[in-house]
Parts: sequence; C-alpha cells; structure tokens
Amino acid sequence: MRTPLIAGNWKMNNNRAQARELVEALAPLVKGLEGVEVCVCPPFTALDAAGAAIGDSGIKLGGQNVFWEEKGAWTSQVSPDMLLDVGCTYAIMGHSETRGRFGTVDEALASRLSYFGETDQTINVKAKFVLAKGLVPIVCCGEMIDERKAGKTDEIVSGQIRACLDGLTAEQVAGLVIAYEPVWAIGTGEVCESNEANRVCGLIRETVRDMLGDAAADAVRILYGGSMNDKNAAELLAKPDIDGGLVGGASLKADSFAVICRAAAGD
Ligand code: PEP
Repeated sequence: MRTPLIAGNWKMNNNRAQARELVEALAPLVKGLEGVEVCVCPPFTALDAAGAAIGDSGIKLGGQNVFWEEKGAWTSQVSPDMLLDVGCTYAIMGHSETRGRFGTVDEALASRLSYFGETDQTINVKAKFVLAKGLVPIVCCGEMIDERKAGKTDEIVSGQIRACLDGLTAEQVAGLVIAYEPVWAIGTGEVCESNEANRVCGLIRETVRDMLGDAAADAVRILYGGSMNDKNAAELLAKPDIDGGLVGGASLKADSFAVICRAAAGD
C-alpha cells in the first residue's frame, strides 16, 4: 500500500508572515487525517516560519529546489543539509519551471539561455546526492504541448525517468517520489483528463519496473501535478496509479488544499 502524498508547491509566493498564517490555517484542517501525507514547499525564505507553525499537525516541509554540493562557492544555491536544518523532509527537483521548459529570457537566445536550466542529468546528480543526505527527492517530469501533439508524450516522459533515475538502486527509487506534470497543465486551469493522467503515471511505473524490478515499481509514489484543485482532485486521486498530487495554485488557500488532502485520504 502506498500512502498518498499531497505536496503544495507555493512557488514564489508568501513572505514569512503569510507563510505562518497559511500553515496555521491549514494545520487544524489536516491534523489527525489518516492515510495521507501532507507537505508544503514554501520559498526558501519562508521555510523556517512555515516550519515553526506546523506544530503537531504532522505537515511535512519540502524545499522547492536543492543543489548537489555540500557547501562552498555556489552563489544562490541551497544544500541538502540546509534544507534538513530547517526541518525539510522533501526536495522538489526538475520542476518544468526550473528545467526552463516554460521559455527563455529572450527568444533570440532560445537555444542557449533558459530561466534556470535544470536537465535530466543535473536532476540525476541531485537525486543521488540528496538521497545520500537523507532527503526525499520529488522528481518532476512531463511533456510540453507540442510534444504531446506530436505523439511523443510516452517517449519524452519515459526518457526523462530513465535519465533522472539512472544509476539509482531499487531501494532508493522505492523511497522517492515522482511527479508527472504535463507542462501544458501547470498553472493553466487545463487539467489532464484523469484516465490519461493515470495512463502516463502507469507508464512511469512500468518504466521503473523495467529499470529496477517489481519492488521499486510497486513502492514508488507517483503524483499527478497540473491544475489539480478542490473540484477535480477526487477523480484524479481515485485512479490506481496516481498516488497523490503536486499542487501549485490550489495550495495557496488552506481550504482548497485541505479538500485535496481529504480527497487523498478518502475522507
Ligand atoms: C506545480 O507548480 O507543480 C503545479 C502543478 O502548479 P498548478 O497546480 O498551479 O498547475
């Protein structure tokens, strides 16, 4: 049995006071909820404030990104130890926004410059480093709309999974989290149809099975992300290969996020 995970990706939203307020509003709504793990991923500057407000609610904390070095001259980066120090359990990596799959700073530089530029290879290095440190990676993957229209969804997603998980052991993969996030569904209000979301999550599971065997494939949690909200969550989360959600916009309001958490718990 895989315990569903609902992770709220706050992105670049909420200062410390707002983070405290949001967690304080969420905590009583999810406290004692069984059969689901709830996590919030505030911006780095608000991790401490959010963590302090968690109390005994059981809400977990995650970082929105992480670097693969211990410490040193890496301006702007945050290490796994720093995330652990503020109480994180999880670290998102490979989000389509940090992969630069939303676009580039300047179309003229399109082939050279993305906003952030994570790749399958850097995600792979991060996942290995973070696992060794005791954080749980949330590895994101997903196709862009032109890739879907060209019938390349399966090839793109399974290719990302093979590259991101390359060299990891079956035990490591069993303990991590994968988020299937079709890029065209993120922040657009256009959710992936539930059967199709489940099909791609199933494809990811079969890719893991092919790479690492049954134990890893049956244990790894695969989330859906992309315009999940309080109205559509129950249908998505009822699907057998969808083990939770990575939630952006709808995680910024305690009420709607709690409805999603309750749906995952089958409440
Ligand atoms: C996300 O940022 O991971 C995400 C899924 O965003 P939204 O729920 O807003 O589409």
